[in-house]
Amino acid sequence: MMAEKMNDTFQFAIIGGGIAGVSCAEMLSSLCPEVDILLVTASPLIKAIANYKKISKTLEEFDVEERPWMSMQQDCPNVKVIQTEVTSLVAEAHTMTVRDGQTYNYKQICICSGGLPKVIAKDHQYVLGIRDTQSVKEFQKHLHHARRILVIGNGGIATELVYEVQGCEVIWAIKDKSISSAFVDAGAAQFFLPKLNADKEEGNKPSKRHEYTTEDDILPEDLKEQTLGGALGPDWSENLKMTGQQEISHQVHVEYRVEVKVIYTAEEFVATEMTESTLPGFIQDKWPVYVELTNGQLYGCDFVVSATGVVPNTHPFTKNNQFSISADGGLLINEKMETSVVDVYAAGDVCSANWTHSPHWMQMRLWTQARQMGAYTAQCMVAKVRNEVVSLDFCFEMFAHVTKFFGFKVILLGKFNAQGLEGDHELLLRMTKGKEYIKVVLRNGTMQGAVLIGETELEETFENLILNQIDLTPFKDDLLDPNIDLEDFFD
Ligand code: FAD
Repeated sequence: MMAEKMNDTFQFAIIGGGIAGVSCAEMLSSLCPEVDILLVTASPLIKAIANYKKISKTLEEFDVEERPWMSMQQDCPNVKVIQTEVTSLVAEAHTMTVRDGQTYNYKQICICSGGLPKVIAKDHQYVLGIRDTQSVKEFQKHLHHARRILVIGNGGIATELVYEVQGCEVIWAIKDKSISSAFVDAGAAQFFLPKLNADKEEGNKPSKRHEYTTEDDILPEDLKEQTLGGALGPDWSENLKMTGQQEISHQVHVEYRVEVKVIYTAEEFVATEMTESTLPGFIQDKWPVYVELTNGQLYGCDFVVSATGVVPNTHPFTKNNQFSISADGGLLINEKMETSVVDVYAAGDVCSANWTHSPHWMQMRLWTQARQMGAYTAQCMVAKVRNEVVSLDFCFEMFAHVTKFFGFKVILLGKFNAQGLEGDHELLLRMTKGKEYIKVVLRNGTMQGAVLIGETELEETFENLILNQIDLTPFKDDLLDPNIDLEDFFD
C-alpha cells in the first residue's frame, strides 16, 4: 500500500489554489497540455480569474471568482487537483507529503501558499482577523448584532471595511498620520475624508461573483479551524452586506498615530477603574471588550477587527529545507522565480522578489501581482525543462494597480508614493473636491509615478510618460492643466 502511495510522480506540482497557484496551473496546462500537473490546495474553493481586461500596457482588470476545486480539472484536463494540505516538503528528495500521509514526487514545484493574517491578540475571543471567505462570514455574523466595532490597520482591507460598514459605529485606529497610507499619501487621504461619514448611495449592485457554496458550508467541522482559505479577491467587500444593529449609515471616528496598548474584557476593564473616552454623537454603553490605545484613549466596542496585513505563509516548507528568506518573511526568488532550493519555485504573497527591480516596479502583495507571478513562473518552469531562455515579463517593468477606495476609481502607477526617491523629487497636484485627485511624482523632470483618483482618463498617457522617461521640464507647468488634452499633446 505504501509503495503504491509513493508512485505518483509529476513533472509539475503546485501548492495553493489562490490566484497565483491557479494562474500557474492554467499556464502550465496550456504550455504543456500533454504533461500531468498536480495542484494541491487546502481550500475547497479555488480562485479563478474571469473577465480579464488589459486596460493599457501594464494595467489590467479582472474579477476573481471562487469556484469548486473540481472545476479546474474540467477547464484543464491535465491538471489533477487534490484538496488537502501539504504538511511537509522534502526538496532534496523532490517529495511532498499531504495531511493523510500520501506522498507525491515532483520534478519541479511552485509554492503559492499565500499569506497568513498578522492578527493582533490572535486568540482573543473579541478579536477577528479578515482574510478569507470564512473569516468574512464570521465578521458579518458578529456585525449583525454590533453597535460599535474598532478597526485596527491602515491598508486596503481596513479601508474597504470602514467604507462598507453601515448601521454600526466604527472607531478606526491607525498608526500613521493619514488614512489608507499603504496606498495613498496624506493629500489623497484628505480627499477621501468627507466620504468617511457621508451616507452611502445604495444602488442595485449586480453580483460580480458566481455564487458557490462557501468553504464554511463544505468543510467538515474539524477542518474548519485548520484549513487556510485563499486570500479574498479585490471585490470581496462589494457585494457583502455589512450592516450592524444601529439605524445609522456611516459613523466613523479616526484615531491617528496610535497602536493598541491593552485589550480588556468587560470584567478586566471594571477592575482597572479607568473611564471610557467619549465621542460626540457616539453612544455610551457597556461593552463586552475595551481597547486602550497608546495615546491614552480607551474605547469600548462589541468586537475588534484586526486588519494589519499578512505575513508570507512559509511554515510547512521551511521545516526540512534551507530556503533563503527575506526580511519580510517571504521565500526569496530570483528573476526566474526560483527559490534558493533547487527545483522549487514560488509565486504570489508567499514570495519576495529578489532581483534588481526595474526603477518603476516594486512588489506589493496584491492580486494583480499574484496572477502575473503565477503565470510567469509557469513559463520559467517550462523554459527550464525545454532548456530555453526566458526574459523577465514586461509586467515587472512598471508597478500598476487599479482599485476602488470610498467609491472612487484609484490607479497607482510606478513609484506613486515616491518610494525610494528619498526627497529627491517634486510633486505636481491637481484636486477637484469630490471629483478627482491627481498626483505626479517627478525627478529630474521625468515622471516616476502617479496617483489617479476619479475618472481622470490620464492613465495611458502617464503610463507612457513613466515608461518613456521623456524630459517633462518644458511642459511641467501645463502637465496638469485641465484645459490641455495631454493625450493629443504627447501623441
Ligand atoms: P492566496 O490567495 O492566499 O492563496 C493561497 C492558497 O494556498 C490557498 O488556496 C490556500 O488554501 C493554499 N494553501 C496554503 N497553505 C497550504 C498548504 N500547506 N497546503 C496546500 N494548500 C495551501 N489585493 C488587491 O489587489 N486588491 C484588493 O482589493 C485586495 N483586497 C484584499 C482583501 C482581503 C481581505 C485580503 C486578505 C487580501 C486582499 N488583497 C487584495 C490581496 C490579495 O488577495 C492577495 O495578494 C492575493 O490573493 C494573493 O494570492 P496568492 O495566490 O498568493 O495567495
